[in-house]
Amino acid sequence: MNFFSEKALSVVPYTAGEQPKDRRYIKLNTNENPYPPTPKLRELFSTFDPSALKYYPAPASDALRREIALCEGTETENVFCGNGSDEVLYLAFAAFFDRNRSACFADITYSFYEVFAKIHGVPYVTVPLDHDFRIDPEKLRAAQCAGYLIANPNAPTGVGIPLAEMEAFTASVPDKLVVADEAYMDFYGQSCVPLVRKYKNLLVVKTFSKSYSLAGIRCGYAVGDAALIDGLFRMKDCMNSYPVDSFCEAVCSVALQDREYHAETVRLVVSERERLRGSLLDLGFTVPESKANFLFAGKAKKSGGEIYRALKEEGVLVRYWDRPILRDFCRITVGTPEENRILIEKLKKILS
Ligand SMILES: *Cc1c(COP(=O)(O)O)cnc(C)c1O
Repeated sequence: MNFFSEKALSVVPYTAGEQPKDRRYIKLNTNENPYPPTPKLRELFSTFDPSALKYYPAPASDALRREIALCEGTETENVFCGNGSDEVLYLAFAAFFDRNRSACFADITYSFYEVFAKIHGVPYVTVPLDHDFRIDPEKLRAAQCAGYLIANPNAPTGVGIPLAEMEAFTASVPDKLVVADEAYMDFYGQSCVPLVRKYKNLLVVKTFSKSYSLAGIRCGYAVGDAALIDGLFRMKDCMNSYPVDSFCEAVCSVALQDREYHAETVRLVVSERERLRGSLLDLGFTVPESKANFLFAGKAKKSGGEIYRALKEEGVLVRYWDRPILRDFCRITVGTPEENRILIEKLKKILS
């Protein structure tokens, strides 16, 4: 007896970073922000009226979309909100790709793209990164596809593509969709959002999970031409009328409004990232320059797997993939100065 669809039988799901509960770990494995979200949320938590929850939320998250539009300098009609940017990306695959409209992305990038392509029956081409982990736009351009997924900064390498290069690329492929996944962009400051007005083929996807310290609330959004946004709404309305709940909408609005706090936590993470990279280089690691809130460190005296396991023994979690190229490295989220100090101390011990 088989109860399963072909899809369910064949798909290899995405594996999220582990969240073990056997002991207290220093968690540097899922790129969460080490700082809490804005303290202004306390006020919301004490005044939010629970009876508001008896109603369904706004189906198009209008209030939050207005706040996002204000913050991003676009119009509400250029914004779509979903239950995390993973959901927005899932809906983008449904709206813009199919078996005759293939996707293209780097061979080393966010591994959800491959999972989404497979679950939606979308053929895909992968483009190898250069030896210094850069994406060669020429190689992307040469790919036969209906559109691209470009994580900028890229995961898990942290390597960023300057805005001018993204613009030149987007302009050069006017009949192909360019999805810029800017989950870590606030740590870089080269967002493509200002280009959206000019390029109808550009969709920028962002999230509250990383720079806003709100991974637990599940909210992400896309900014793009109204026609692209409409495509996302059509797919959402085939899946879930209310992906963003009322409480989430209120939380994200408060977080967006506290620009000063957001800028300050981003600044702290970025300065700590540079300090931590220096310490890792001193220990003999190869670490590409990162524009995100994590570092891709490897090729020291031990393999990525050995370092990952030894650090876990020592109570520090980092991310590791047993795949070609990646297996020489670990991806380490930038923690608080104290967490990073402990990480370096443990690494010194492991490598000696
Ligand atoms: C974290 C991450 C996301 C998704 O984040 P959500 O929590 O689903 O908003 C999307 N893309 C990349 C590259 C990420 O690292």
